[in-house]
Amino acid sequence: MKKQNKHTFIYWDRVVIALCIFVLIIIFIVMGIKAIIGAFSDGDKSDAVQAANMEAGLIGDGQKLLVCVDAGHGGEEDCGALSNDEKRFESNDDLNMALAVEKHLKKLGADVLMIRNEDKYVELYSRPETANDAGADIYVSLHRNSAETGQGVEVWVNYDAPDDDTLLAKNILDGLDEVGISQNRGVQYGYQGYDPTAKVNYVVNEKSNMPSCLVELGFITDDEDNRLFDENLDAYAKSIAESIVKSAEELNIIEQR
Ligand SMILES: [Zn+2]
Repeated sequence: MKKQNKHTFIYWDRVVIALCIFVLIIIFIVMGIKAIIGAFSDGDKSDAVQAANMEAGLIGDGQKLLVCVDAGHGGEEDCGALSNDEKRFESNDDLNMALAVEKHLKKLGADVLMIRNEDKYVELYSRPETANDAGADIYVSLHRNSAETGQGVEVWVNYDAPDDDTLLAKNILDGLDEVGISQNRGVQYGYQGYDPTAKVNYVVNEKSNMPSCLVELGFITDDEDNRLFDENLDAYAKSIAESIVKSAEELNIIEQR
């Protein structure tokens, strides 16, 4: 009996040592792979390594970017602008674009806070408040324009042209312009339809604590803009997501890749 007890004791002892060695080997292997990936990204910054890092959500030094995506309007109470035949609701276009932007932001490794992900009414002032409470890093509100005549894309920031917001707006606009839009209407300041000297802002821009902008993705009252919106929905969304991440890097919210 004594011999058996002794034998059992030695057996477990060896298992523990073997397990320790095994864990150490795994740690060394993981550290080795990380060092190799680090060497690659510091060196030629190959797209493949970047993509692998992004896929794994390793933006910057592991800090995740939190983007608030705000689909404008929503619900029966607020369908936003209407197409000329009144069959097309801005709220639906805004939501479809927001869902596509969310998809692409997640692919790029960012966390996304959606103001709405279905057709429901959300009170205007609660939107930036939600982003502020969550500590979002960037706020992007998605809308479509309307007018008797007019076409093209414009992006709005506060009337006093904050540097960070203007950079974000410009990056988004440049990206969309590259995909293809009917007209680049530029970065706009303040609030549409108001006297520019009145110093009035969109609520979402004014009340959000982080860099923000409001994107008017073409005119819902213009056939060409609607065609471009439908044909390029995914390409626009991808471009917006990439411009948001690029802006986060340039604003040092996340580490430059
Ligand atoms: Zn709108």
